[in-house]
Amino acid sequence: MPSSIKFTEDIEVRERRVRRAKHLRLSIDASGRVLLTRPFWVSKKAALNFLEEKRTWLEDRWRELSLRPESNFRRGGRAEYLRDKEATRVLVTERLNYFNQFYNYKINRIAIRDQRTRWGSCSKNGGLNFNYRLLHLPPELSDYVILHELCHLGELNHSPAFWDLMKKVMPDYLKRRQVLRKG
Ligand SMILES: [Zn+2]
Repeated sequence: MPSSIKFTEDIEVRERRVRRAKHLRLSIDASGRVLLTRPFWVSKKAALNFLEEKRTWLEDRWRELSLRPESNFRRGGRAEYLRDKEATRVLVTERLNYFNQFYNYKINRIAIRDQRTRWGSCSKNGGLNFNYRLLHLPPELSDYVILHELCHLGELNHSPAFWDLMKKVMPDYLKRRQVLRKG
C-alpha cells in the first residue's frame, strides 16, 4: 500500500516506492489523484523538498482540472451524488431567481444532471439543465454558468445580442468565461 501525504486542504499525494525508477516523478490524473513516484534510493526528505518545489505547479494544475465539467474530483457514491444534486438545485434556484429580477423570463423547468461535458445547457423548449457538480465551482463561476443559461431564454444562440444580455447584469462575464474555459 502506498503511503499518503496530506498536501493541502484538497490535495492528497499518494506515494509509490519504485525500485527501478531513476527520478522522482509527480503526476495528477483526471480524478485529481496525485501520485508521487519515489525510487528506493531517494530519501523521504528529498521527496518532500521536491513536492515543495512543485507546489505552484500542482496547485495550478489541480485547480485547472477541477474546473472541467467532467471533473470527478469529489465524486463519491450514490449518496454524495444525491446530496450534491440537491445542493446544486438549491443554489441554481436561488441564483436564477436573483438574476431573473433583471429579465423576468418565464422559467419552465430546471433539471440537475450528471452531464459529462458541460456545466449547463438550454433546450429548445426552454428547459435549463445544470451539471450536478456546479456547487463545487467558485461562486463567481457558478454564477456565470447560471446567468449564461438564463440568458438563453432571451437568445437561444451566442449572437452579440446574447452577450449584451449577459453584460447587462455581469459586466465582467468575459473574464469569468476565460477562467472557466481554461479548465
Ligand atoms: Zn450558451
